[in-house]
Amino acid sequence: MSTVAGHAPSFPSRREVIEHVRALGREVVAVMPIHYPRAMLRAHRLHPIEIWGPPRVPRVEGSRHFQAYTCDIVVKATSFVRSGGIAGTKAILVPHTCDALQGMASVLGDFLHPEQRVLTLYLPRGRRTSDRDFLREELQRLGAKLSEVSGHQPSRADWMEAFEAEDAADAALADLYRRRERLAVSDRHFYQVIRAREYLTAEQFCEAATAVPEGNRPRTGVGLMISGIVAEPLELFDQIEALGAHIVGDDLACGFRRVYSTSMRNDPFERSASRLLKGPPDPTCGTPVRDRIEALQTRMRALGARGLLVYDPKFCEPELFDVPLLRKHLHEAGFPVLHVEFEMGETLPHQTLSRIEAFVETLS
Ligand code: SF4
Repeated sequence: MSTVAGHAPSFPSRREVIEHVRALGREVVAVMPIHYPRAMLRAHRLHPIEIWGPPRVPRVEGSRHFQAYTCDIVVKATSFVRSGGIAGTKAILVPHTCDALQGMASVLGDFLHPEQRVLTLYLPRGRRTSDRDFLREELQRLGAKLSEVSGHQPSRADWMEAFEAEDAADAALADLYRRRERLAVSDRHFYQVIRAREYLTAEQFCEAATAVPEGNRPRTGVGLMISGIVAEPLELFDQIEALGAHIVGDDLACGFRRVYSTSMRNDPFERSASRLLKGPPDPTCGTPVRDRIEALQTRMRALGARGLLVYDPKFCEPELFDVPLLRKHLHEAGFPVLHVEFEMGETLPHQTLSRIEAFVETLS
C-alpha cells in the first residue's frame, strides 16, 4: 500500500481484500450505508464491504422495484445485487438509515429473495437513555443473526480483539481529519484514503492512513465545507480545485459523520451502541437541525471555510429536510450555502460545474 504526495494512493482491490479476509477465516457481508457496528461483524468472523451505489451500475434493473423518486444509492445497489455483484457474500446488511433503505430491505427480503441473508438494523433517532437501551437490544438481535450467518459465537477474546482493531481504525480516521492541514496530498487523494475504510480491513486502513505523507502543500483559493451523503465522482475534488477552491472540511456521511468516539463499556453490545450514538451530528440519526447548524458554524469558523456546498444524491429525503434551515441560518451567520443535487455516475455534468463555479466566484 502506498500513498505518495502527488500520486494516486494505491490500495488492495476489493477482490484482493476479500481473498485476504477469507484466508484469515472471515466471510464477507455486503453493507449498505451509513452506520453499523464494525467490531461486532469482526467478532463474528465477518468482514464488511460497503455498497454506495456503485455509481457505474445502471439504474434500469433496480428501478423496476421502486418508485421513480428513489435515490441512486438504493436503486443502483439493487441493480448491483440483482446482477450478481455481491455473489459469494454471506449476507447483506441494510441499516435503517432512511425510508428508502428500509424499503430496500423489504423489497429484497420479502420479494426478490437474493441468495444472501438480508439483515436489518433499526437505528434510533435520538440519543437519550431509552435510545441507547433500544439500540443495545437491537444489536443483540443482530448479533444472533450474525452468529447464524457465520456459525460462530464470539468469545470474550474475540470481542476484545475486534474492538481493539476497529477502535484503532476509527482513531486513524479521526487522526486523518485532525492532520488534514498538514497532509501533503490533494483533496481527491485525501478522500480516496478516507473512503478506503469502506472495504479495507482495520489493519489495512491503519496502514493506509499512516502512510499519508505530511509536508508543505500550499492550498490556494476559497476554502469550502462540503456536506451531503457521498461525494461522487472523485473527479469533483479535482474540478473544485480547478475552479479556484479547496475543501477545508466535510460533513459527509461517507466521511466526517463516521468519526466516532470510542467507548470502553464492558458489555460488547452497550459498547457498540455507545460508539454509534457518539458520532458527529447527522440528519439521518435525527440530530435536531439547530444542533447541526451550530456544529457546522463552529467547524466552518475554525477551519476557515467561506461557504457550504451541500452535494446530495437526488431524492435524498433526510438531507433535503434540513436544507432550507441550513441555508437560512448559515447565510445569516455569514456562510453562503449552495445546494446541488446530482445523479450518480462516472462523470460530472457541466450544469453542476457551472453552479459550483458561480458559487466560488461569489465567495472570492
Ligand atoms: S442517499 Fe439519502 S435517501 Fe438514499 S440511501 Fe442515502 S440517506 Fe437514504
